[in-house]
Amino acid sequence: MSRFFSSKLNKLVPYVPGEQPKERDYIKLNTNESPFPPSPKAVKYAGEAADLLQLYPDPDCKMLTEKVADMLGVESQEVLLTNGSDEILNFAFMAFCDESSPAIFPDITYGFYTVFAQLNNVPYEEIPLEEDFTIDTNAYMGNRGTIFIANPNAPTGIALSVAEIEAILKANPDHVVVIDEAYVDFGTESCVPLIRKYDNLLVAQTFSKSRSMAGARLGFGVGCKALIQDLNTVKYSTNPYNINRMTMAAGLGVMEDEAYTKKNCKTIMDNRTYTMEALEALGFTMTDSKANFVFAKHPAIEGAKLYQALKNKGILVRHFDKSRLTQYNRITVGSRAEMEALVTAVEAILEEQS
Ligand code: PMP
Repeated sequence: MSRFFSSKLNKLVPYVPGEQPKERDYIKLNTNESPFPPSPKAVKYAGEAADLLQLYPDPDCKMLTEKVADMLGVESQEVLLTNGSDEILNFAFMAFCDESSPAIFPDITYGFYTVFAQLNNVPYEEIPLEEDFTIDTNAYMGNRGTIFIANPNAPTGIALSVAEIEAILKANPDHVVVIDEAYVDFGTESCVPLIRKYDNLLVAQTFSKSRSMAGARLGFGVGCKALIQDLNTVKYSTNPYNINRMTMAAGLGVMEDEAYTKKNCKTIMDNRTYTMEALEALGFTMTDSKANFVFAKHPAIEGAKLYQALKNKGILVRHFDKSRLTQYNRITVGSRAEMEALVTAVEAILEEQS
């Protein structure tokens, strides 16, 4: 740290992204990316957009915003496109959290929430998950702060129902409830239709998972017009050109190819079932994941040990060094061949150590 680093930030513990090693060709099951390439239309449009990189992109992101709004059945003033969904989440911490509305979220959830709270000097409260890693919705009924819930949650993959989220919205009329739907396309019902009924609902979604565009950085928020206006105030005060020209074009391409996205999501869900059944047969227990990952533990091997043994065999998964999670690994659901390779490797590791 330099002697110039602001005292506002010198206690900040930054987010640690999953490893992106270059030294060998790993089967990458550690950052919940899609195993499928982006839609050919996305690639084509992005290439064409590259010809105009000397010009700033449209700060209003008009065409893509209209396309996303159409897909969701809402108006374009109810949508804000961002640089990954990380950016809409950060904007929400900036816009809706302060001393009188601290951030509230589960103790086990997406690791960026604590970072955004610290970055924005916002007080925050972490509510412990139940023993079985489910969210006790009763603990979120206090109308005392801005709530952030990933649905399905990460790294557990466990989802709340829309009715459970609606109960939280009703019980917190004076605070924004942010529902982070990064993994919604793998079998969870979206809360987006509730934005017309609740002016305190903001839904965040991403193109990184189901739409194979993690490398392009594209996400969005959906909420009532006033909420989106507030978030636009933050956007135009930080980075008006937050979506680059090529990403915007790729976003339009993939939106014109919804059948491709749907087909890939179905394959991932089938591969999730395959993986869970195969791991169960090997003695693993898992949470009921509705995401593009499984969260698994085995009674005979420590989570960190399994992580390392898999890495030695060329397969990367994600291990979290957090007290209640040490036994577990989060394994992204990839292609069928990747999941077969994972199961074979796990089988060999369990055999080697028995
Ligand atoms: N929310 C959750 C729960 C996530 O796991 C992630 C991915 N790491 C994000 C949001 C952010 O994804 P992105 O910025 O790529 O849209």
